[in-house]
Amino acid sequence: METDFIAWLVSRLPADQRLEVPPGDDAAVLRPPAHRRTVVTVDMLMEGTDFVLGPDCSARAIGHKALAVSLSDLAAMGARPEAAVVAVALPRHGGDTLGREIEVGIEALAAEHGVTLAGGDTNAWDGPLVISTTAIGSVRPGAAWRRDGARAGDVLVVTGAFGGSLLGRHLAVVPRVREAIFIAEHFAVHAAIDCSDGLSLDLSRMMAASGTCGVVRLADVPIHADARRRAARDGGTALDHALGDGEDFELILAMPPEAASALVAAAGTAPLDLPITMIGTVAAGTGLVAEAPDGGRSPLEPRGYVHAFDS
Ligand SMILES: [Mg+2]
Repeated sequence: METDFIAWLVSRLPADQRLEVPPGDDAAVLRPPAHRRTVVTVDMLMEGTDFVLGPDCSARAIGHKALAVSLSDLAAMGARPEAAVVAVALPRHGGDTLGREIEVGIEALAAEHGVTLAGGDTNAWDGPLVISTTAIGSVRPGAAWRRDGARAGDVLVVTGAFGGSLLGRHLAVVPRVREAIFIAEHFAVHAAIDCSDGLSLDLSRMMAASGTCGVVRLADVPIHADARRRAARDGGTALDHALGDGEDFELILAMPPEAASALVAAAGTAPLDLPITMIGTVAAGTGLVAEAPDGGRSPLEPRGYVHAFDS
């Protein structure tokens, strides 16, 4: 039924000026925006590893998440999303229904962020559902946010709150696309990363790339209510959940102090309709340091999700 499925899919896609050759040919042709650089990112989600389909996790939710995590990566580059292509390996049994639900989830988020769906590939097999999204964005030349630009003296700033995403936010991912575009236009940002694997782990990656040390004021880490709920269930601390759970898909930014203060002051009004918090500073050195409320400092071990494999 692949031909029916593809015909159904192509018929749903709205025409878009950015597509010189629309989906349905061997490949799509995009008109790149004038005077912009192209930003590309790819992600893959695998049933059994990244999600388990069931009452709490619909195929539509997986479609949403697959595109959302790629858009979050574009946001972490300060880029504007333009287009996406999607490859899906569908289980033979029930694959048609699954494929259509996934597409509906992808379409809704694409429409919300002005992303044109430029094509894809659909296969059926005897394995579980696998979905890969490639998102294409654009940014002014030289303006992309990178991980390696943090400098001693910068202030560490985060959007939103952290921890406990497994209670549902890991599926209902809200990529900080509009926020990132607005911040990129109005505030100086030295380095950025999105929080996919864990606040402390992703921050440590930024610090490693920048050759700097991140000093985190533990009392200032914004803790999500979900982190408190998880802590109440498992006896851990909400702070540990905030630092290590991951899949928050918030932005972690290193900014000059004046820019950080201005950004925090601008939070709460559209399009920055979310808390924005200074959680620490960047210092000379390496790794992460935790600063307690009494000013005492100790090493902070990065924790989070790591894809493990061996030889
Ligand atoms: Mg990322």
